[in-house]
Parts: sequence; structure tokens; C-alpha cells
Amino acid sequence: MNRDIATVGRTKEILEKYGFSFKKSLGQNFLIDPNVLRKIVSFAELEPESGAIEIGPGIGALTENLARACEKVVAFEIDQRLLPILEDTLGDYQNIMIIHQDVLKADVGAVMREHFKEEQDVMVVANLPYYVTTPILMKLLHDQIPVRGFVVMMQKEVAERLAAEPGSKEYGSLSIAIQYYTVPEKVMIVPKSVFMPQPNVDSAVVRLTKRDHPPVEVTDEEFFFTVTKTAFAQRRKTLLNNLTSGLEKGKEKKEEIVAVLESVDIDPSRRGETLSIQEFAALANALYPLIAEK
Ligand code: SAM
Repeated sequence: MNRDIATVGRTKEILEKYGFSFKKSLGQNFLIDPNVLRKIVSFAELEPESGAIEIGPGIGALTENLARACEKVVAFEIDQRLLPILEDTLGDYQNIMIIHQDVLKADVGAVMREHFKEEQDVMVVANLPYYVTTPILMKLLHDQIPVRGFVVMMQKEVAERLAAEPGSKEYGSLSIAIQYYTVPEKVMIVPKSVFMPQPNVDSAVVRLTKRDHPPVEVTDEEFFFTVTKTAFAQRRKTLLNNLTSGLEKGKEKKEEIVAVLESVDIDPSRRGETLSIQEFAALANALYPLIAEK
């Protein structure tokens, strides 16, 4: 077995050899603790015949642990400067495919069809670049890529929002979108000290297990998400105020919106953060004919 990449000594050696300087703008905080990496991989519950998709391999610390645990790893890396480094650090592994692409622009479904077997068990496992955590998760969920789920490291504050319950200050449209597609679990808190360079905030690992079916039935998914985002546009405002100022022609249709809210037993003076996902679904379905139906 090769020497772990994720130790302070080996990481420094690699960075010095290539004169690599971290780019803050790309969220480059590399893991330097082999135990944390092994735990992340264990949360993914990979079998020898599973596959893994990684976003942002960096110098390959997590990538090599994934390659040891499953059949194939496909990793998207945006930073061209890391490609020769990865060729060097991961050169001994025959089961790693590095794709030089911004994952937000990639057709991940097509990449999966090309590199994984049909019906193969695949997990997304990543120490995400923090500046794009939410866009990456939302893109992969909306695209409905055929994976079992995600084990992803992110800022602790974002992790808390993903798993938040109605009534808490962390609960918002992100919580609803994530809980619509997955069952989230915060599985590990990770201190700043295991990264190089150290970020300003602590991190958490979250496991998101894809649901077979959403927990609610909605007439139109896009409109459901529009309603949830609108309801949280200004957290201090009432639901009615947010809906009238945020929905198309909301101001003109204020009276009808009040009637719709009453028809689904939601007091117009409540705030978005008090509504459950079931109440949001009922509200969006009742508003759909009034606001969105063409
Ligand atoms: N996996 C490595 C580790 O744990 O040590 C590095 C993680 S670092 C937090 C994030 C990585 O994502 C960096 O290598 C960065 O260059 C890469 N990255 C940033 N934005 C990206 C994007 N849009 N698409 C693909 N990779 C990206």
C-alpha cells in the first residue's frame, strides 16, 4: 500500500515539489488527517464493486482512500495546476479517472453512463469547495443522477441548515429542497485543525440518502421550489407578504392568495419558517392554478 497523501509531512512535500499555492477562490482546504478520511469513506458504505464520484480531488487525499475501497472513482477537478500532481500522487491506481472540468458545467449523468456500469451502486463522496456547496448539491439533485446518495464535507453552519426542522432559525428553502430529495444526517463534526490551510469555521460531514419517492406529492416541482424560496425571501415578513411581493402578479392577486391560504388551513400571518414540507406542498399545489398554470 502507498504512503498516505493526507499527512502533514507528505502533503507539504507534494506542495513544495510542485510549488503549489492554494487558491482561496477555489475553496482549496486539503485534508491532512488519514483517520478523518477513513471515517468519511466508511460513512459511504461502499462495497468492492461500488463506484464513487468525487468533486475536487485536490492532491488526491480522499481519492486514494476511495480507490482502495471501491471498484472505480471518477473525480472532477477544476484547477488545471492539480492535474500533473494527481498524475504523480495517484499514478499507481488503475481505477481512478480524473476529469478536468467545473462540476457545475459537467453533464454528470453522461459521465456516469460512460464510466460506470448500468445499475452500479455509486456514491458521491467529497470534501466540497465551500463557496459552491449548495449549487453543487442542488445541481446533482435536480439532475437526478443515479447515485445512492452523498457523503459530503461542508461548513458546519450549512450542514445544520440541510437537516433543520420547521421552527428553527436554520430551517429554510435549502432544508426543504434537500429533504424533498434525500434523508440528511449529520454524521461527524470536523475541527479546522485537520485542514491545510485551516478554514475560518468548523466543518461537518453530512450523509444524504436519496429517497425512492419524495415525501410529498407536488403538481409541479419547479413551482413548489419557487414557492418555498419566495416564502423565505425576507424571514421577518409574514408568509402573505412574501408571497404577494415575490410571486408573479402577487400584488394584484392578494385577495385570491389569502383565500388559497385559508383553503389549506394556513394562517396568512404565519412566517415561512413555521411551515412543514407537507404544508408547503399543499400550499404550492393550491396556488399553482392561480399563479403558474398556463
Ligand atoms: N479532496 C481534497 C481534500 O479533501 O484534501 C480537496 C478538497 S478542497 C476543499 C476542494 C477542491 O475542489 C479543490 O481541489 C478545488 O480546486 C476543487 N474545486 C473547486 N471548485 C470546483 C468546481 N466547480 N468543480 C470541480 N472542482 C472544484
